[in-house]
Amino acid sequence: MTASSELGWHVPLSDIRVDDELTDAVVETVRSGWWSMGPRVEELEGEFAAFCGAPHAVAVANGTASLHLALLAVGCGPGDEVVLPSLNFVAAANAIVHTGAEPVFCDVIGADELNLDPHDVAAAVTPRTKALLALHYAGFPCAMDAVNEIADQRGLAVVEDAAHAPGASFHGRMCGTLGQIGCFSFFSNKNLPIGEGGMIVTGDEELAKQLRLLRSHGMTTLTWDRHRGHASGYDVVLAGFNYRLDEVRAAVGLVQLSRLLEENEARARIAGLYREALDGVDGLTMPFGDGDGTRVSSHHLAVVVLPEGADRDRVRAALNERRIQTSVHYPPIHSFTRYRSLGERRPLPQTNALATRILTLPLYGRLSDQQVEDVVEALLGAVQTL
Ligand SMILES: *Cc1c(COP(=O)(O)O)cnc(C)c1O
Repeated sequence: MTASSELGWHVPLSDIRVDDELTDAVVETVRSGWWSMGPRVEELEGEFAAFCGAPHAVAVANGTASLHLALLAVGCGPGDEVVLPSLNFVAAANAIVHTGAEPVFCDVIGADELNLDPHDVAAAVTPRTKALLALHYAGFPCAMDAVNEIADQRGLAVVEDAAHAPGASFHGRMCGTLGQIGCFSFFSNKNLPIGEGGMIVTGDEELAKQLRLLRSHGMTTLTWDRHRGHASGYDVVLAGFNYRLDEVRAAVGLVQLSRLLEENEARARIAGLYREALDGVDGLTMPFGDGDGTRVSSHHLAVVVLPEGADRDRVRAALNERRIQTSVHYPPIHSFTRYRSLGERRPLPQTNALATRILTLPLYGRLSDQQVEDVVEALLGAVQTL
């Protein structure tokens, strides 16, 4: 059973597989009678930490909460600046603003690599910079060696926005474990979909402790600990949040985590089909082509860069007519009203030039070869008639 086929798409942008293993896990959890954060959340944290090779994992309510808590834990607050690429989901900038700090936007490298440009990251750093927020765009690891070098030289924290990148790796190390803290999202269209959910990983025990306090009101014990008789009271040591994950979603997460590598491999194969059929044809660019094997993508998104001057709306309309769903990841954050004035502070020539040319094609593990062919044919047809 698939969810999106019911909405009438021939090829939806993403799709969720629903089967008995998943529904059984949910029913079993509901029947257990313990729904708020408990043993399944702990198990998911343990399994995810092991998957990433990270000493600590802290489950949270969603990916945005993971970014908010990570930035707070590394000390971001009023008067600080955080550097991030503008070509990102707005949650990253919102999370920075909610710590009291200010986003400073940097540029991306170009059509072949839509990740942050380390030279522009370095140029964006000021004496007020507290942290670098590094996105692995579309699941392709950004230049984390260069990012870490800048951070080391300037004494900055590095938070990875690994929402696209569970299972991606850089020189053999998992994305999310390359800076101080790594943040993941388990939203419905991500590689590890739960509905709503997130995870924070870190190698630093003090940060992990801080993150756990921030997640649950700053309280020193959990309801689950008290239920088991492991604690009878609690203290509150900071003004935290309720950003907890619940047991039902953790149960779904455990099933999805067991399928993640298989899902990533299936996505890699389909991304390869797109690349073979499209790259270089009619001025189309499939970014992230010349990987040297040291950067392994999780293939979250199949993004193409349309020829210069192409009318993206018309291309999208042509695909839509064939019931093929597309999207844009993303309108740059500085193009939105709230962030426009911040975006005027630094030139972002690559981001601005590419913003109107990027197009996201359907990508999920169970996309059939026929569906891929249909997307390719529709896209090439649309681009040729421009
Ligand atoms: C999905 C996503 C988020 C937000 O995650 P939610 O779980 O939806 O809160 C943040 N950053 C990026 C890059 C994302 O793709």
